[in-house]
Amino acid sequence: MESRFDAVIIGAGIIGTATAFALSKSGWRVLVADPLPGAGQGATSSSLAMIRTQYSTLEGTALAWEGFHCWQDWPAYLALDSDEAIAPFHHAGVLTFKTSSNGFLKPHLAFSRDLEIPFEEWPHTKLQQRFPQWDLESFGPPVLSDDPHFGSSSGESLECVFFPKGGYCPDPQLAAHNLQRGAEQHQARFRFGCAVEAIHTEQERVQGVRLSDGQEISCQAVINAAGPHAQKINGLAGLAQAHNIQTRVIHHETVHIRCPQAASADHTPIMLYDTDVGSYARADTGENILVGSLGARGEVEMAADPDDFDRNLSSHAIEPLYRLAQRIPPLGIPNTLSGVADLWDVSDDWIPIYDRTDVGGFYLAIGTSGNQFKTAPVVGELMTALVNACENGADHDREPIQFLLPRTGHTINLGFFSRNREPNPASSLSVLS
Ligand SMILES: Cc1cc2nc3c(=O)[nH]c(=O)nc-3n(C[C@H](O)[C@H](O)[C@H](O)COP(=O)(O)OP(=O)(O)OC[C@H]3O[C@@H](n4cnc5c(N)ncnc54)[C@H](O)[C@@H]3O)c2cc1C
Repeated sequence: MESRFDAVIIGAGIIGTATAFALSKSGWRVLVADPLPGAGQGATSSSLAMIRTQYSTLEGTALAWEGFHCWQDWPAYLALDSDEAIAPFHHAGVLTFKTSSNGFLKPHLAFSRDLEIPFEEWPHTKLQQRFPQWDLESFGPPVLSDDPHFGSSSGESLECVFFPKGGYCPDPQLAAHNLQRGAEQHQARFRFGCAVEAIHTEQERVQGVRLSDGQEISCQAVINAAGPHAQKINGLAGLAQAHNIQTRVIHHETVHIRCPQAASADHTPIMLYDTDVGSYARADTGENILVGSLGARGEVEMAADPDDFDRNLSSHAIEPLYRLAQRIPPLGIPNTLSGVADLWDVSDDWIPIYDRTDVGGFYLAIGTSGNQFKTAPVVGELMTALVNACENGADHDREPIQFLLPRTGHTINLGFFSRNREPNPASSLSVLS
């Protein structure tokens, strides 16, 4: 195999493959290395891949809105010249509640107006008609099932907002594979079963990497897209704990359960972000739904080692189900749970890091905080803009790159995602970002 590339991308998850696709399209000779047997087999494979646009910041909202435009016409985004299987996208509107924890959605609705994202404020009667079996009183703030306040309603009716533009990709691994194929169409190369073991630098600049099969690769740029292994890769570049914003790895689990009552009366698919009970849910095959936690008082974050973590559901996995059963009383709680346990690569303020570093040619696309599947196609494009600008002499730290989102026409300041920002006070400090 060749030993000279323009750029090496570490990790073939949805972030690494999307970056490979965009960077190779812009003319870079790209190599992607991953120790797993194929694309999207790390955290990406467990993603619920829900595509929603409610974020706590304008930049996060704009990125998600642009991402929605990519997913809603995924075949056109990829423009593959083969007829292989393409990951499907299912349209589903997003239902969420106005609560004190989300500022009664005031910022989200202001960003949506600014960005022209459609939304509908549904009166209680409409919500009742759509979900006749739901209990629409407020139970919040979310608590664990052994809390004395669990299950007690305030008696107040919830107000809700419906965002019709959303959906999910039921096969996130296939989506990463599609991006691999797209990148290969532009001469990118992929090495599976092969980790990056060393990053070589000279005079504070990247020179190349060593792969686990011993091969040395020389390159101008290296992009850390290693997801939960991101801090280990920063260590290889001599940048362990070097930045103002750090990332950590936490265990997250989602449960698969039959619940016909989660569907609306007219069977229009919806995704639920129930900030009042602290659970989220989306449709899966048949009458099944997938459920996870948005956080609750007393919920303990489970730290994990990406090289040695438990893939079994923990005893806590049932908690978001108990909470969702407050909203959907007919939801039956099974004796045995099925679902997935995987990892989130979380930054201090739950906003990702998309940035250069103090080692010339070494870039970060990390800290995706459980919420960046939806943005990945756009992240690939913004990383390409960033790498191109910095490698052509731009001083992104002093004069941050302004990135025009091509489909929605908004410009975002990429300094927002800086490794050295102060933690963003607007963040929800949760997966909602
Ligand atoms: C359970 C769950 C539910 C989620 N739900 C949603 C959702 O509904 N909506 C949403 O937008 N987001 C969601 N997310 C978040 C989203 O899926 C992630 O942000 C995204 O998949 C992370 O992609 P990644 O490429 O950064 O990481 P990964 O997919 O983990 O890819 C990183 C890759 O790096 C490789 N690697 C590690 N070390 C090395 C090395 N030394 N050399 C080379 N390669 C290496 C790994 O093998 C891995 O394949 C969810 C995540 C989880 C876990």
